[in-house]
Amino acid sequence: MEIRSVCVYCASSATAPEWLFEEVREFGAGLAKRGWRLVYGGASVGVMGALADATLAGGGAVLGVIPKALVGREVAHSNLTELKVVETMHDRKAEMFKGSDAFVAFPGGFGTMEEFFEMLTWKQLGIHNKPIVFVNVRGYYAMMLGQFERAIADGIIRSDNRILYSVADDQEQVFSVLEDATVLNRVPGKWY
Ligand code: AMP
Repeated sequence: MEIRSVCVYCASSATAPEWLFEEVREFGAGLAKRGWRLVYGGASVGVMGALADATLAGGGAVLGVIPKALVGREVAHSNLTELKVVETMHDRKAEMFKGSDAFVAFPGGFGTMEEFFEMLTWKQLGIHNKPIVFVNVRGYYAMMLGQFERAIADGIIRSDNRILYSVADDQEQVFSVLEDATVLNRVPGKWY
């Protein structure tokens, strides 16, 4: 498996803490440095906007995918390598899926969660086998990961489905996970 294009889900909020802005900026710079394209929701605002700006500033390529109805509300980024304006939220997720080799979830709200859970469930169903990484920076996803463990303990999620996702402590670890997936070309479902 070779990573060329990484889909990132993160908050559209502008009131997120400064450490999160810093974290995604460093990640965007890291993407650009590796020549990996960023695929994201196409907004110019909030954490999403900061991520795109940092990737572009580093000379990286960015594909944004935004539904028509959100072009005004999320203020579509006007300076991307490519901006796809699609009809619906479903079209957005499908385009982001098609254009990416891996999915990275930084801290985010309902929108972020909705998007990565779909990729997680598709992987569970065998629709794809692309890496999914949760960025558990400052323990942001600790309670969600705890919920997964509860579901496993109760026999509701199968324990071998833990291999569907990886957990990184910060943006640097995300690169370690993805480079590992690339370099080792691990067998499907066993790469993390
Ligand atoms: P949030 O994490 O709530 O700040 O949202 C992050 C991004 O997810 C924003 O660009 C939202 O427009 C987007 N989003 C929210 N709900 C959905 C959905 N149902 N399908 C696709 N994208 C969504």
